[in-house]
Amino acid sequence: TAHATDYAVSPKLPVNLKARLFANENPFGPSPAAKKAIMDAVTTSYQYPMRMIPELEAKICAHEGITPDMLMISSGSSPLLLGTAVSLLGSGGNIVTAETTYDDLPTRCEKVKAQWIKVPLTKDYTHDLDAMEKAITTDTKVVYICNPNNPTGTIVDADKLKAFCERVSQKVTVFVDEAYIDYLPDAGAVTMIRGVKQGQNIIVARTFSKVYGLAGLRIGYIVAPPAIIARLQPNTSCSWAALSAPAISGALASYQDKTYIQDTVKKTIESRQFLYDTLKAEGYSYIPSHANFVMFPLKMDGERFQEEMMKRGVGLRNWKMNNAHWCRISIGRMDEMQAFAAAFKELS
Ligand code: PLP
Repeated sequence: TAHATDYAVSPKLPVNLKARLFANENPFGPSPAAKKAIMDAVTTSYQYPMRMIPELEAKICAHEGITPDMLMISSGSSPLLLGTAVSLLGSGGNIVTAETTYDDLPTRCEKVKAQWIKVPLTKDYTHDLDAMEKAITTDTKVVYICNPNNPTGTIVDADKLKAFCERVSQKVTVFVDEAYIDYLPDAGAVTMIRGVKQGQNIIVARTFSKVYGLAGLRIGYIVAPPAIIARLQPNTSCSWAALSAPAISGALASYQDKTYIQDTVKKTIESRQFLYDTLKAEGYSYIPSHANFVMFPLKMDGERFQEEMMKRGVGLRNWKMNNAHWCRISIGRMDEMQAFAAAFKELS
C-alpha cells in the first residue's frame, strides 16, 4: 500500500482546492489564543526554545498525572512512530496491526526489516482484539491499536481495550495511537494512559495536529513507561532539537482548552451530519465515524473517483478495503462539505 502521506505531499495536488478533505486536518484552525501565542513567539524565535519545553511538559504531566520521564515530545507524533520502529523493531521481529489501519508505523517497521502481521477488522470495521491477541507470535515486539481508527473512524470498546492492554502488555509492547481521541465526548475515560501509569508496557501517542489544528506547526508526544522512553531516546529527535518555539507556544496556549475543543468538535459533528445526509440522499452507505473523517463504499473505481473529484476542486482519498473501493473523506468546514456535495452529485 502507498504510504499514508504520499498523496498529501504529491506534487500533482493543486493548491487552490475548494475542499481540502484528504489529510484529516482541523480546518477550523488553531484556537484564537494559540494564534496570538504563535505570533508572539515569532518575535522571540531567534532564541532556542529550551525554557518553554519544561513548561509544556509540566502542563501535560499535571493533566495526565504522569512524570516527565514518561513523556517524549517531538515535532508531531510521526517522528515518535519512526523512533518506535527503529528502537523496538530495528533488530527484527514483527508488529501486529489491524487491516485496515493507519500504516505509518508498520510501514516504518518493514523498512527496518521487521515483519508486518495484518489482522482483518471485524464485520463492523473495528479492531478484532481477540484475533489480534491470537496473532501474536514469539517474535512480536509491538501490537498497534489506532483508536479511533484511521481510516474507518471506528472505536474499540474501552473496557475491552483496557483488559486487552493489561494482558497483552505482559508479553509485548502495546502501541495505542490516540491521534483522534479528542473527538470523543470523554477522552479521559477512554485513554490508555491509565495503563501506562499502572506500569504497563504501553505507548500512547497523541498529537496537536488534529483537534488542536496545529498540523502545520508539527508537535505531538508519546506517554510511556520511563524504560521505554529511555529506549526511544537515542533514535528520536525530541525536545529542543525538534521543537520550534511557535509550535510549543501554540500547544501551550490551547492544550486542554475545553471551550475551543468543544467548539471544534461541535462544528465537526455538524459537517459530518451534513455529509451523512448527502450520502444517504444519493443512495450511499457509510461507516458511522467517531472522528473527523468518514469512510464510505464507492460505486466506481476509487482512483477514478479521486481524480474526478479533484478535477472538481475536491481533494479526498480513495482506499482499497476488503477488495472493494472506498472513499475516506475528512470533515471540513460547511462550505467545503457543500463543495463536496455539489461535485459528488455530478458523479453519483
Ligand atoms: N497517527 C494517526 C492515526 C494519524 O492519522 C496521523 C496523521 O494523520 C498521525 C499519527 C501523525 O500525525 P502527526 O505526525 O501530525 O502528529
